Amino acid sequence: MSNYDKIKREVLDSSHWLVENEYLGQLTSGGNISARVPGEKNLVITPSGRSYFSLKANDICVIDFDQNAIEGSLSPSIEAGMHIGIYQNRPDVNAVVHTHQTFASVLAVIGKPIPALLDEITVEIGHVVDVVPYAYSGTAELVNNVISKLDNKCHCYLMQNHGALSLGPDMQCAMKNAELLEHVATIYYRALASGEEVQELPSAAIDYFADMRKSRFK
Ligand SMILES: [Zn+2]
Repeated sequence: MSNYDKIKREVLDSSHWLVENEYLGQLTSGGNISARVPGEKNLVITPSGRSYFSLKANDICVIDFDQNAIEGSLSPSIEAGMHIGIYQNRPDVNAVVHTHQTFASVLAVIGKPIPALLDEITVEIGHVVDVVPYAYSGTAELVNNVISKLDNKCHCYLMQNHGALSLGPDMQCAMKNAELLEHVATIYYRALASGEEVQELPSAAIDYFADMRKSRFK
């Protein structure tokens, strides 16, 4: 037993839900999931290059913010730097879910930020789901591109020609945000495909939900 067992289990269980619900591949190892260890400069993160259902809780890596191994014999995800960059720049975030979910990825490929369309999304995720410019996976350039977008305090981002990022104050919230993101991305894509004008929320509603969001997520 270690101090990290519970959080490793939570990361592993979350990865399984994401695979079962087609946010990650069944046979591939795309995407990565992490959680900040409360009170430490450490995070718990899925390993690189393993299918999620082949993993046991002890295979989940614990590393520090300099990417030194604390626990686990497998290599951490190559996107560990991106997760660390988020934790270092967003003290409000304690869990990060990077997926290749379908409709968010469609919008990431056509480079379309998601405007304020639905009440719940505007409260839970934020005003606009922005697009992080493309860079190769695992590079400092991608980390910097992600960091450059974090100031809007949003809980989700599209990664150009890649996938999606969902953040939260805890894992349950980050997972819920991934699901909400797929919901709004699906609706937005289908609304665009209809050829009709897409109506955003009225500006007074956006302000109202922004205030609600501020009081909810300090
Ligand atoms: Zn990816």
